[in-house]
Amino acid sequence: MYKDTIVAIATPPGHGAIGIVRFSGPEAWSIAGRLFSGRLDDHHVSHGYVRDPESQATIDEALATPMRGPHSYTGEDTVEISCHGSPVALQQVVGAALRLGARAADPGEFTLRAFLNGRIDLAQAESVLEIIQAQSEANLRLAVQGLRGRLSERIAAARERLLHVQAYLTACIDFPEDEVERQIEIKPRELLSEAKAELAALIASADSGMVYRQGVKTAIIGRPNVGKSSLLNRLLGEERAIVTAVPGTTRDTVEETATVQGIPFHLVDTAGMRATQDVVEGMGIERSRRAAERADLLLIVVDASAPLTKDDETLIAMGKGKRAIVAANKCDLPVQARLAELPQPVVKISALTRSGMEALHEAMVSAALGGSTPSADAPLVTNARHKAALERALAHTEAAERTLAERAPEDFATIDLAGALGALGEITGESATEELLDRIFAQFCIGK
Ligand code: GDP
Repeated sequence: MYKDTIVAIATPPGHGAIGIVRFSGPEAWSIAGRLFSGRLDDHHVSHGYVRDPESQATIDEALATPMRGPHSYTGEDTVEISCHGSPVALQQVVGAALRLGARAADPGEFTLRAFLNGRIDLAQAESVLEIIQAQSEANLRLAVQGLRGRLSERIAAARERLLHVQAYLTACIDFPEDEVERQIEIKPRELLSEAKAELAALIASADSGMVYRQGVKTAIIGRPNVGKSSLLNRLLGEERAIVTAVPGTTRDTVEETATVQGIPFHLVDTAGMRATQDVVEGMGIERSRRAAERADLLLIVVDASAPLTKDDETLIAMGKGKRAIVAANKCDLPVQARLAELPQPVVKISALTRSGMEALHEAMVSAALGGSTPSADAPLVTNARHKAALERALAHTEAAERTLAERAPEDFATIDLAGALGALGEITGESATEELLDRIFAQFCIGK
């Protein structure tokens, strides 16, 4: 448990209906008690006034929710004081708390304490961040699953198996193998292959999991006047994301996000998306090429009502070896383009009449998920850090398996098992370094 008591405004900056100041630590109740006129009663909300402890001037009318540890978010004694959403009032409450001995919380420090106090593991703490940053309903659902510990449970299962094998091997170092096998009913190779399958399944889910979380950078490219802007507006008009700010991407490359079947597609600005009229053909191609380089998915728009041109072919060729869909637009008009000869999947659409848009959505989702359709079994790994750690755990497990198969000395396998367990511990936090914790919690906002 920590010795100091932290305080922070937990609600977003700006004016709002309510604003919350949060306290956590051994002095949380006593400091809040000196500020708040009402009674503090464990897990009960009470009404009162927040007063400056020195001048006794009333800062605001408020509700206080005190919680005794360990039954609180951080696992420590906490108090949340809900004031009116006035930045001035909230700052005054924090200022008064600081004068009474509280310390201003670092970003994510409440969640860090929840982790360090064993209330949640590291993967669950990261899910908290993911919930806050969720860009779609699907993303939110996966993050909530993570917070409820579904990934942690699966990791614990793999870990359990590896620990059994490790115990077995340690025994083998001291006693003859036959004897150990008779005494401990453990089949090390079976356990290793089960652990391997478990890890491999989690890794396999990561690609689609990460797509739901991070989204797909999508470039709409095509000659001027083929209907890129119309298609963009169609996609945004129907599927515009609730949240448009994309963490980790710069504002100048990403314009807007359309959420299709829960997957955020970040539509990367390309030639003519905004300024069709001014763009000369050559420039369009060059800008398309640059946008295509940065994108995970290309929507190559062609005008199906006219024969394809050399430029169309150049653009279509950009999709080779990439995730790309040719959207043959203007199919409400008589089709003149020879679409059957095109290498990529072609979806006939009309941005004008909206026909074919469902098929385009399907093609986008399927391309985003690498050809697989969304399965009923939701992916559990949505985070690149977790995926990398799982891959290391799997590599170590495979090495341990090889060592056993070759009947090499058990010590070698033990080293690999320790490596695998260490990698899994980085996900759940048992073997996370301080540097890693700093990096993770720095992404949180203050007050979380
Ligand atoms: P961009 O230069 O590629 O962005 O093309 P625009 O979206 O500005 O469209 C160019 C022209 O084609 C406009 O006059 C649109 O109204 C028209 N257009 C776009 N999509 C369609 C479509 O599906 N069918 C028809 N008939 N016209 C379309």
